[in-house]
Amino acid sequence: MTAAPHHTEGFTRGRGDGGTDALVILGPGQTDLLRALDRTFTGWGRAAGASEILPPPVYPLRDLEKFDVYTNFPHLAFAAAPLDLEHGTGKPDEGRFRPGDLQAPQLGLPHATCYGAYLYYENTRLPDDTLVTLVNRCFRHEDHYSGLRRLLSFQMREIVALGTYEHTQQVVSRFTERILAFADALSLRMDKQAASDPFFENDGARALLAKLSPVKYEFQVGDLAIASVNTHRNFFGERCGIRRAQDGEHAFTSCVAFGLERWLAVLLEHHGQDAERALQAVDRAAGQAS
Ligand code: ATP
Ligand code: ZN
Ligand code: MG
Repeated sequence: MTAAPHHTEGFTRGRGDGGTDALVILGPGQTDLLRALDRTFTGWGRAAGASEILPPPVYPLRDLEKFDVYTNFPHLAFAAAPLDLEHGTGKPDEGRFRPGDLQAPQLGLPHATCYGAYLYYENTRLPDDTLVTLVNRCFRHEDHYSGLRRLLSFQMREIVALGTYEHTQQVVSRFTERILAFADALSLRMDKQAASDPFFENDGARALLAKLSPVKYEFQVGDLAIASVNTHRNFFGERCGIRRAQDGEHAFTSCVAFGLERWLAVLLEHHGQDAERALQAVDRAAGQAS
């Protein structure tokens, strides 16, 4: 596969105050705002009974492969490897290592956060109404980048439901209302839109089913999806051997995902790039919409 022109030029890094950078370093005001948003979403999860877990930023390839990541999303994937000091020099040349400089990669950089939840509960039996929340760095090889709106590495907070199908759907509708009410309290114009199912894209029968009964909804502000709710039926339960304690059946799952830097982008735009004003609005809205 040939890389898009900007990829041959390399990945750019900036300060998160506009531009088209692939990677950003958030300044103090942006950091406070992102943390306040994450506290709000985490608080919603915990108030609904979620426990919190902390995943690593990379996984063995074998773990991500279980979820068909390299069948369905090879274009998004990054892999990581230690240097091969026997065959390479150990030094980058013009900002890049050559293939022979690296050992064969065995680590995958995840493109979504909730994988950590399924791997955490792998081969266990769970209560019918399990709820867990986690945040992770996600990595995507996008065909273009645009600063906070579309990054190579960003933070995704998720609230993940595991158990009965009914439980997974109650969580989806509860947080759908929460997200819409919060956007309202922030005076953001938000649209909820059905989107194509990210987990079953390459599977004809399931893709058709997804069209008939949408399993993914996105919450858009302008043309930017800043959150999504996703129903996976028992796909992850089967792949990870997660069973319900009650009847031993594979668990159903759903997740609610918040792209934290995209919330930042939208709020900064809404408040004339004034992070402090945006933070006050978040604190006010979090009080109202809770
Ligand atoms: P898009 O259609 O805009 O590419 P997506 O469908 O790929 O979004 P999801 O897979 O649902 O997005 O990811 C969950 C959330 O993560 C998104 O709603 C968004 O807020 C955020 N997100 C996705 N890709 C990026 C990115 N490249 N940079 C920043 N945030 C992102
Ligand atoms: Zn998810
Ligand atoms: Mg995308």
